[in-house]
Amino acid sequence: MLQKPSPIQIKFLGGAGTVTGSKILVKTDRHQVLIDCGLFQGLKQLRLLNWQKLRVDPDELDAVILTHGHLDHCGYLPVLVQNGYNGPIYATPPTRDVTNIILLDSAKIQEEDAAAANRKGYSKHHPAKPLYTSGDVEMTMPLFETYDDGEWVVINEDFSFCFRKSGHILGSVFVELKCQGRKFVFSGDLGRRQPILMEPPAFVQEADYVVLESTYGDRLHAQTSPYDELQEIVHHTVAKGGVLVIPSFAVERAQELLLLLNTLREDGSIPAIPIYLDTPMGIDVTELYLRYRDWHSLSDAECRTMMHNVHVIRDYVQSMHVLDKQGPKIVIAGSGMVTGGRVMHYLERLLGDSQNTVLLVGFQAPGTRGNLLRSGATELKMQGRYYQVKAEVRQISTLSAHGDQSDLLWWLSHLKDAPQRIFLNHGEAQALEAFRLKITDTLGWPVTIAEMGTTYDLQ
Ligand SMILES: [Zn+2]
Repeated sequence: MLQKPSPIQIKFLGGAGTVTGSKILVKTDRHQVLIDCGLFQGLKQLRLLNWQKLRVDPDELDAVILTHGHLDHCGYLPVLVQNGYNGPIYATPPTRDVTNIILLDSAKIQEEDAAAANRKGYSKHHPAKPLYTSGDVEMTMPLFETYDDGEWVVINEDFSFCFRKSGHILGSVFVELKCQGRKFVFSGDLGRRQPILMEPPAFVQEADYVVLESTYGDRLHAQTSPYDELQEIVHHTVAKGGVLVIPSFAVERAQELLLLLNTLREDGSIPAIPIYLDTPMGIDVTELYLRYRDWHSLSDAECRTMMHNVHVIRDYVQSMHVLDKQGPKIVIAGSGMVTGGRVMHYLERLLGDSQNTVLLVGFQAPGTRGNLLRSGATELKMQGRYYQVKAEVRQISTLSAHGDQSDLLWWLSHLKDAPQRIFLNHGEAQALEAFRLKITDTLGWPVTIAEMGTTYDLQ
C-alpha cells in the first residue's frame, strides 16, 4: 500500500506583512529547514523582534538556505549560531562573500552603537549591548557550504534544493525546494526584467507552492532613464554650489551609481567634480564584482569604468577631510536607509544647508531615517541629537533592485499551470493587498498573504 505523504508545514517567522526579517520555516514530521535568516529593521517594534526568544529550536533545524546577502535576509544568522545552531548554511559563492562583508559591518555598527549609547548615556538599557559581535560572525562563516546555480543538492531524505539566479544583487538566487514529491519555489528578492548590472531572473515552469516577494507589488517603476535623472540632479546641485550626498546600499546600488556617474562623466554629460565612495563595505563588494564575472552582466571594460575617477574613503579621518574640502562634490556613503554608517557624519554636517542635496536611491522602510527624509521631515535625530533638514531631498525612481508589479507578474506567468497556492511575503500591507488582487484578477490563481507566526498545513 502506498504511504500517504505526511503534511508539510510552512511558517513565516519574519518578512510577512513587512519587508524585513525574512525567515521561512519548512517542516516535515522529521526534518526542518529555514529559508533565509534576516534581521528586522526599521520601526522600533520590528527591531525589538530581533531580541525576542528564537521561534525555532536550533537543535531541530537541519539547514539554512540563503537567497542572498542583504541584511534583511542574512542578518540574524549570528544570533542563530549564538543560540547553538551548527548545521550547514547553503548559499552561492558570491552570497557567502557578500554575507561575510554585510554581517561584519552589521556587528561593527551594533558594537559601536552600544558603545556610543553607554558613553553618552542615551540608552534605556544599562549597559547597552550589541545583538551580536564580530566574534559571533566569525563563528557563523565556517558553517557556509556553497553551490552554484542549477545544481540539485540533497539535504536529507525529505529535502533537496536548487538555486536559480534571481537578478537582484550579486550572487542572489531564488530557491526551488523539493519535499516529499512536492515542489516549492521561494523567490527571495526578485530583480527587474532588465537589471543594470545583473542578468535577468531565471524562471520556473512548475511549482506546487510559490512564496513570492511583494516589495513593489502595488507599483510600476518609472520608465525614464536613470542617466537622465542623475544628470539633472548633479547639474542642479552643482549650480547651487552644494554637495550631493547619496546614502547608498553597499551592494548593487553603490556599484550601479558608480557605473552611471562615471559613464556620464566620461561622455561629458556631468562636470568633472570629485566622486567619493565612503562605504568600506561598498568598496569590498565592488571588488567582488571583479572576482565573480559569471554572476553579473558587466564587461571587463565596464567593471573598470565603475572605479574610474572614484576617491575611495577607507576611514573616518578621511571622511572628515572630504567634509572640510570646499566646492561641489558627490559623496556615496552607507547606509542606504540612513540607519547608520558613514553617511551619518555627512548628514550631520550638510543637512542644515539648502545648497546641498540628499539623494535617496532605493526602498526606504517605514521607521528608517531615509523614510522620514522621503516624507519631508523637518528634523532628523542622529546619535541622540536633532538636526534641522534644510538640504533638498530628492529621490531617484528608476533605480531598483526589485521587480515592480509587472515584472513580478511576468516572472510568475512562466508557470505552466496554477500552483496549489501562492504565498505573498516581503511587502508592506498595501503592496501585499494590491498584488493579491492583481494576481487573482489576471491569473485567477489562489493567493494567500502570509501572516507572521502563522503555521500553514500543506497537503
Ligand atoms: Zn534583497
